[in-house]
Amino acid sequence: MTRGTQLEIRPQALRHNAALARKLAPDSSVYAMVKANAYGHGLALAVNAMAPVVDGFGVAFMEEAQELLAIKPDVRVMVLEGCFDEEEWLLASELGLTVVLRSTAQLAQLNVLKLPRSLALWVKVDTGMHRLGMPVGEVDAAISALKHNPYIELKGLMSHLACADEPQHPLTARQLALISAAAQSFGLPYSVANSAALIRYPEHHNTLVRPGIMLYGASPLAEQSAAALGIAVTQQLTAPIIAFTQVPKGESVGYGASWVAERDTRVAVVALGYGDGYPRHAPSHTPVAINGQRTTLAGRVSMDMLTVDVTDMPHVMIGDRVEFWGDTVSATEVAEACGTISYELFCQVTSRPRRVIRDK
Ligand SMILES: *Cc1c(COP(=O)(O)O)cnc(C)c1O
Repeated sequence: MTRGTQLEIRPQALRHNAALARKLAPDSSVYAMVKANAYGHGLALAVNAMAPVVDGFGVAFMEEAQELLAIKPDVRVMVLEGCFDEEEWLLASELGLTVVLRSTAQLAQLNVLKLPRSLALWVKVDTGMHRLGMPVGEVDAAISALKHNPYIELKGLMSHLACADEPQHPLTARQLALISAAAQSFGLPYSVANSAALIRYPEHHNTLVRPGIMLYGASPLAEQSAAALGIAVTQQLTAPIIAFTQVPKGESVGYGASWVAERDTRVAVVALGYGDGYPRHAPSHTPVAINGQRTTLAGRVSMDMLTVDVTDMPHVMIGDRVEFWGDTVSATEVAEACGTISYELFCQVTSRPRRVIRDK
């Protein structure tokens, strides 16, 4: 017998969600963001599942691009953070990658190079997120320099939204106005739509959309669930019950004795902990489900185990599976209870849970 802790991944659901993005943005190229091991789903599996429905893929940096091309050599790959040195620019050109240029320092590096092949380039503009990108005022000079560079195939302007998950955040309107006006003034296409903007702002799909989280089964919008948006669940994290303890009213459970039973409580001990990537700071009201019925954590998450209140579930037995997120409990709900976002939950699952590929 094995421990039985498992992360079920569903390729058909990934493909369904990619097809949904395509359907919502029918006139744009759809680039599926697969950085960070496809948000923890497994790069090869995600790429193979989505390749038939998307136009290309987005990764954060060159090593991820190379890893992707080793899996599937014939796909278009966009490198979101661009190149870090001369060698990477040459390699990007050789491999036929699409690269994001995000600073004047990168431009200076690029402009003195003789590239082996022409290089497709998006210029990233900082429209208000203030993380990466050129200020709008520097774009003019950059575009002129690039237009004189015989190796560059200029694709357009790109920007990233800081608050697209929140309805009607004023920064979003400002960012959208800036990027669309800049693109228009240079006569270039633009790309600004992450998952949230893809759903919320069809008028800003333009030539290329960049969905991420919606492909991975979680809602990109603060006010609407994945299910309501027609997004399919792509992963389910489960582990079996390995023991029960009876905790009398007033006694505590687990490290720090932080959770105290308010009634005589039956507690199930489950084979999942922060060593598997479940957040240690998940509080005792965090939802879980057993056989489709919801309950909550009781007590602190340990490295290899955690504890769940099953007082109102007299029929559960050793070996029954507890769902931490998936069909009954959404990753978004768990994330909210833990003060984080679904993205982080997906990225943090360690190699310990056994990966099981299942289509239903
Ligand atoms: C990760 C990323 C995306 C996807 O964002 P989601 O919120 O996951 O849809 C889009 N664009 C850039 C530049 C990114 O880094």
